[in-house]
Amino acid sequence: MSLTDPTILVIEDEPSQVELLRYNLSRQGFGVRVAMDGEDGLQQAIEDPPDLILLDWMLPTLSGIEICRQLRRNKATREVPVIMLTARSEETDKVRGLDIGADDYITKPYSIKELIARVRAALRRPAASVTENKLVLGAIEVDLQRHIVLCGGTSVDTSPTEFRLLVTLLQSPQRVFSRQQLLDMVWGITADLDTRTVDVHIGRLRRVLACAGCQNQIRTIRGFGYAMEVSQQTRRPNSTS
Ligand code: CA
Repeated sequence: MSLTDPTILVIEDEPSQVELLRYNLSRQGFGVRVAMDGEDGLQQAIEDPPDLILLDWMLPTLSGIEICRQLRRNKATREVPVIMLTARSEETDKVRGLDIGADDYITKPYSIKELIARVRAALRRPAASVTENKLVLGAIEVDLQRHIVLCGGTSVDTSPTEFRLLVTLLQSPQRVFSRQQLLDMVWGITADLDTRTVDVHIGRLRRVLACAGCQNQIRTIRGFGYAMEVSQQTRRPNSTS
């Protein structure tokens, strides 16, 4: 195994599941670390962040849901992809509805082939680069300090809310955010705000980005929410080609 092989932290309390995952992930060339209870899992993740976390829902000492929430709050683990393992499809729905910030959900019993495919997909998700308070993804450039958005070099006018919305989406490209999650993260309040508020602001953000030549950057996930696409075909609006 080379040093560049991605490491996966498996947080799962059932020994047979742990062995199944350890065997199959190792065979695929992944480094595998295991925690068999919640608190140990969270501690391991924060002390030495892995490239991806496979997280069981029902765990001793700390539930998968609580772990996921804490991982998202912690600077060291905020960007680590998390795939939740849940026992039944109804539980998957329930966990999904909780908006805890997992990247993907797999229902037990799962096929190893499918699990490996989902792991690879989550690992391929690109990160926007942050340098000197600048966030860059494709043609979009955000100056976090001066609150300036450039799209293909053109300055884009955003409200403070739209700015926060854009930054939230840009920080995790291709990650699917539910409307409720965006309300929590951007507006910071959950009560008394309709999730349609998010749709309205996404709509305006899309229009200003499109005007500056960045079309189809924000994808709608029907009945759920939004994700920032990584588009190759952004163009400069002033370009004649
Ligand atoms: Ca369990």
